Amino acid sequence: MTFWITVFLWTYSRLESAEWIVSHQPEGRELHSAFPVKPEVIWAELDSVATELQETLQVKGTGQPIRVLLFVDEQSYVEQLSEEFPQCRHRKAIFARKGEVSVICAYQSRTLSTDLRHEFTHAILHQHLAFLPLWLDEGLAEMLEEKSSSRVSSSRAAATRWKARLGWRVNFKSLESLPAAEAMNDGDYRDSWAAVYFLMSESAEARGLLAEYISSIHGGKDPGRFSEFSDVRSMELSKRSTAYFRRIPVRAVGASR
Ligand SMILES: [Zn+2]
Repeated sequence: MTFWITVFLWTYSRLESAEWIVSHQPEGRELHSAFPVKPEVIWAELDSVATELQETLQVKGTGQPIRVLLFVDEQSYVEQLSEEFPQCRHRKAIFARKGEVSVICAYQSRTLSTDLRHEFTHAILHQHLAFLPLWLDEGLAEMLEEKSSSRVSSSRAAATRWKARLGWRVNFKSLESLPAAEAMNDGDYRDSWAAVYFLMSESAEARGLLAEYISSIHGGKDPGRFSEFSDVRSMELSKRSTAYFRRIPVRAVGASR
């Protein structure tokens, strides 16, 4: 979930007033937590996300500040954030950016690692790119929130395979019509995940096309809609997505957000 709202002043006032018991500030980063955590463990987890983005898509953070704020529970998180971010009542974590500073807020829960991986993906993407399509932004965050070893056993992989067997395919044009993250339902998130997972996993050719699209944006160009970008190359990606998901090995239906 991404919010483009001014948080710069908010974060500084809250930084001083909140009761953080852990504060860790390595170069270019800050982590403040209201409950016991091991910052090195959290940064290592998030570094693995950054590494995957760089190795697979040549997406790199800029080194600009990333600030992680961890609240003790949902009540505290909502109390501190809801005035500025009413949507936080429905989200377990949020990402916002103002100028150079990226801020990630979350609270203690069993899905904290997943939530942080998701929002950190947004932070790196928005450092690397001036803009990107919503489906790509959320699709990458949804994919990278899971460790690579557990992706194929997620419930959405199983659900997408089942739908593909009934004829479903990735519909880039439909995904491109999504108006805003706030309007996305679970199906939209799953379909965004499926589009990205397919492009990243089906073939070097498909992943290369996505990397090329992202590189174009990074280079200051507007490559237009991905559906038109890919159509130019006549790759029949939507059609190929059905065949791909029909045959993916789903090891088990596990928990997935
Ligand atoms: Zn998101």
